[in-house]
Amino acid sequence: MTCIECGGRVISKKENYRYEACGLPNVTLAGVEVRRCATCGDHEVVIPRIEELHVTLANAIVRHTSRLSSSEVRFLRKYLGYSGVDFAGVMGVSPETVSRWENRKETMGASAERLLRLLVAHKTPIERYPIETLSRISAKARTKPIGLRLKASRWIEQDLAA
Ligand SMILES: [Zn+2]
Repeated sequence: MTCIECGGRVISKKENYRYEACGLPNVTLAGVEVRRCATCGDHEVVIPRIEELHVTLANAIVRHTSRLSSSEVRFLRKYLGYSGVDFAGVMGVSPETVSRWENRKETMGASAERLLRLLVAHKTPIERYPIETLSRISAKARTKPIGLRLKASRWIEQDLAA
């Protein structure tokens, strides 16, 4: 394989890959194929079953007890398939408010956050989402890293820190 940028040799390797393209800074995909040019460093990553990956990732986010970050709010809004205006309509706020949530100008209110979590949990009934989960959300909980691994052709959440 040769690099489309420089014509150098492309080497394919399995890596733990920081999935920044999803808009979240703390997501790592375990052992995915990364094709990297040995000459210029240009790379592409091969992500199989990306739709299911996003289901698993959205579920991981709503299960965590930390308050939703602005980038998580944006990821979940897009995951639900809403434009900013549509999402504002569903949440009962103005589009400007949605924009402030996603640009770190305003923290989402606790009730709005619970509604968003429930919308996500309801869209993906793959996994149980006990209502008690909502009572564990805490402003003191820190955003956790999220690790995802393709296992027996299913994306599962896995702690990669260890
Ligand atoms: Zn290259």
